[in-house]
Amino acid sequence: MTLRLHNTMTRSAEPFAPLAPPHVSVYTCGPTVYNYAHIGNFRTFLFEDMLRRWLEASGYRVFHVMNLTDVDDKTINGALKAEVSLAEHTARFIAAFHEDREYLRILPAHVYPRATEYVAPMIAMVESLLEKGVAYKGDDGSVYFAIAKFPGYGKLSRLDTRELQAGAGGRTSADEYDKADARDFVLWKAARAEDEQVGAAWDAPFGRGRPGWHLECSAMALDLIGKELDAEVLDIHAGGIDLVFPHHEDEIAQSCAHTGRDEFARVWMHGEFLTMSGTKMSKRFGNILTARDLREEGVDAGTVRLLFATTHYRAPLDFTDQALDAAREGSRRLGAFGARLAAAGAGGSSPSLDAVAAELDTAFTEAMNDDLNAPRALAALFDAVREGNRLLDAGESPGPSLQAVWSRTTDVLQVLPLASGPRVVTMADARDGLEESGGDSDWAVAWAGRRLAAKHARDWPEADRIRDLLTTAGWEVRDRKDGSAEVVRAAG
Ligand code: AMP
Ligand code: ZN
Repeated sequence: MTLRLHNTMTRSAEPFAPLAPPHVSVYTCGPTVYNYAHIGNFRTFLFEDMLRRWLEASGYRVFHVMNLTDVDDKTINGALKAEVSLAEHTARFIAAFHEDREYLRILPAHVYPRATEYVAPMIAMVESLLEKGVAYKGDDGSVYFAIAKFPGYGKLSRLDTRELQAGAGGRTSADEYDKADARDFVLWKAARAEDEQVGAAWDAPFGRGRPGWHLECSAMALDLIGKELDAEVLDIHAGGIDLVFPHHEDEIAQSCAHTGRDEFARVWMHGEFLTMSGTKMSKRFGNILTARDLREEGVDAGTVRLLFATTHYRAPLDFTDQALDAAREGSRRLGAFGARLAAAGAGGSSPSLDAVAAELDTAFTEAMNDDLNAPRALAALFDAVREGNRLLDAGESPGPSLQAVWSRTTDVLQVLPLASGPRVVTMADARDGLEESGGDSDWAVAWAGRRLAAKHARDWPEADRIRDLLTTAGWEVRDRKDGSAEVVRAAG
């Protein structure tokens, strides 16, 4: 089965066919660096990371570009408020973005173009659009794109032609506006005193000013894929669902009018929103949680990634504490199985465990090839854990196949905890049934609890027997001064 990806342009899942395989160019709209990115933004970046990892796992050579929007309405306002230069203001948030990205185990893009470093190609693009007669200079000194001159306008967002007519004739200089307000949009904004104050103005043949947000992505994307792949069309362009209109619609208009090609990207992919209590997570609504909030609360990235993987990227996801707790437990369970598998080694041979590996391989691959169906891919991992634990409990000794498939699949999703630290055990953990509730560290905790109970009853042979049992299964038990104990995966 080949990879199918949902294309917003056609509203259907299509077989993926890049222009020049094995190369795949991927452009993802990056953060506007005027503040800390929230985990809604990161839901989109994590979906894109999953896309990138799956493409690479499938043998493609990805060239991934993610821009940093470091000049637009928001960043300029932010710099004015903070009374610093634009560059100073955005530098802080660029550094923060990379810290958060690393925390969340998002692979770095190959290039992170900053809009302010690509003003020259932006100016060249505006000149080309003026020459072609699809752009004009307004009486306010700004340059606008004439949407009536571009026949394909509205194709991506399926803008009703009636709406278009209602809007035609007017223009907007705002970076963000909605569908009901479809008008000529700004390519280049004439410099104001505030722009000069923060260092956000550049000379251009059509007047001093600064680029509009939509223009930035078109110019950076075309410049970079031109240099790297000698291409004028992207294989994949991705972002959050709110970027369909106007951002991506405007990108298409500018880019296609400039290159003369009928498409700017072969596949347009959009991730749904992360919501909180049903409302889109947004700085505007004040309902945000940042990646650093989670990190400070000690939430492992594997937990966050697992939480997001439980919902398909094209379905909305509501963030709740309960969902986070469930994800933490799921991640721990997967991590415990991974550790158990590592401890079991790969020197044995078990047709049953080989069958588990083959099943995981097939189910995971089919799920991911089906428009990145992470919830199904995750279910395949949990199936493997259940069956794998059962067989390991029965004394089966794995060969190399399960370990190999396990690494390959968990590498793509990155949902395992970073490190499975020691778990503290008390006699209360001796209860029956605990090991059924989760992964094998639950099993170890239950037995370590029984060992404490045996010690308490001065049943030394039983305590020793349980220690041996745990050691054989790859667990180390350490007694603590307060009468409790710790179980931890034995090193190696
Ligand atoms: P921005 O920094 O506002 O340009 O947004 C960066 C990315 O985050 C874009 O792809 C947006 O579509 C995406 N985004 C913004 N809010 C959310 C949200 N609540 N859930 C998912 N993605 C979002
Ligand atoms: Zn963009």
